[in-house]
Amino acid sequence: MKAMEAPARQTLAVLRSPIVTLRAAGVRYGPLQALQGIDLTLYRGDRLALVGANGSGKTTLLRLLHGLHDPAPLQGERLAHALSPEGRPCRAAMLYQRPFLLNLSVRWNLLVGLWLQGVPAAERAERCQRALERVGLASLARRRARELSGGQQQRLALARAWALAPDILFLDEPTASLDPGAKREVEALIGEFADDGVTVVMSTHNLGQAKRLASRVVYLEAGRLLADLPVDRFFRGAELPEQARQFLKGELPWTT
Ligand code: ATP
Repeated sequence: MKAMEAPARQTLAVLRSPIVTLRAAGVRYGPLQALQGIDLTLYRGDRLALVGANGSGKTTLLRLLHGLHDPAPLQGERLAHALSPEGRPCRAAMLYQRPFLLNLSVRWNLLVGLWLQGVPAAERAERCQRALERVGLASLARRRARELSGGQQQRLALARAWALAPDILFLDEPTASLDPGAKREVEALIGEFADDGVTVVMSTHNLGQAKRLASRVVYLEAGRLLADLPVDRFFRGAELPEQARQFLKGELPWTT
């Protein structure tokens, strides 16, 4: 038994290693202070959901964690620890509510993505095939990507991200425009990627989805971070400030 304990502790230490730390961070778009005073550390293995009303700053925070806050100047500090267990910089992929797909076949959308990321030609075909099988789109490889349903398009975007073997997946309302069946399929894939060890950060308006997928929930209001709690404590509500509790009350009936 003793021989088993040391690796388990090591694994835990790797999982809790920080990826990005924000200190008193803010983003201003001209006169608008979109985020301010954000103190937040993203850890390896987190399944982090960002919730809050429209315009509260979820997408901006997602982009800031990713390092995409340009051209808006960053206020405060953003520290990228960003080393994988093998000692290389972390790879991150981002998914949007409506994926941007080239007017090419499903397969070529993946191949071009791999080419753009510098994946050697000899590896591309096999990685493409594995990714399509992973998301259940192998039989549609030759279809035009833009002719796929919304759910299939989002699964293709997930395949394109997964083919790059990311350490972190940033998702901006990934199921917002999908019907319940497609939503379930996309959620299942996100859950599987997280189970495989990919760190997941997602913004969502769907509190049921945050409950199903997240281990940690951050609540934003008017650009400020008002709560950052493990998912069970967040939804219990006792530790939340009054505004966040009101938000939960207002949203829960429509989202569970
Ligand atoms: P939603 O839930 O509606 O997607 P959100 O919580 O993701 O909103 P953000 O998109 O981060 O919020 O926007 C925060 C604020 O910053 C909003 O007032 C928005 O109008 C503003 N904003 C976002 N991006 C820009 C931009 N590129 N230029 C100017 N203002 C912006």
